[in-house]
Amino acid sequence: MSKNHIEKIKCSKCNAESEMLVWETMDTSTDPQLKAQIRNGDCFGWHCPHCDNKSLIFYPTIYHQVNEHYIICYVPGNPSSAVEYMKNINENNQSGYDFNDNYTKRVVSDINQLREKLLILDEGLDDRIIEIMKVFAMAEIQKSFSDLTVAEIYFNKEQDGTYNLAVKFDNGQWGSTDFAMDSYDQVVKTFKTSLAVDDEVIIDTEWAISMIEKQM
Ligand SMILES: [Zn+2]
Repeated sequence: MSKNHIEKIKCSKCNAESEMLVWETMDTSTDPQLKAQIRNGDCFGWHCPHCDNKSLIFYPTIYHQVNEHYIICYVPGNPSSAVEYMKNINENNQSGYDFNDNYTKRVVSDINQLREKLLILDEGLDDRIIEIMKVFAMAEIQKSFSDLTVAEIYFNKEQDGTYNLAVKFDNGQWGSTDFAMDSYDQVVKTFKTSLAVDDEVIIDTEWAISMIEKQM
């Protein structure tokens, strides 16, 4: 079941108070509209009815996509409490769901990470494989652009359906690098054993580096 409440938001432009619907838990079986709303950002959108001011307000939420056995906790800023919560989610849980080992459980602290995780979910891919591929890709990119540093890297799908990795350098410039499915399959094979026993919920660059170090 989803859980939400109304919060009063004071407009930064006209100072008038208005209401915003805030979702603590999003359950796509009872509220299927949330599937689109979290992807297009509508559930974080706020609009002042007095002066027409619009903005996005990113609040912590738990998104549960029931059919895919996927649950992700988004906590802007500091994820540590969410990690504990997610690792013990099946204890004392009264949701009626069994969040067993078949579930993918994730914690993200940044809205771009949330968007990327949902894209990966929609494409039926494994975010752990992609994070490992990113580390290899970053090393390659660093070789070609030795004067720049990769600040961010995201899995991306173009309008024509092709995948790539979008790269943001520390000077603010964006670029992209190929994403090859045969490299994906290779990483699946190479890391099969270590991934089978891994139960981390924060799957990011740091996690991927530690996986690669374990493998070597
Ligand atoms: Zn206003």
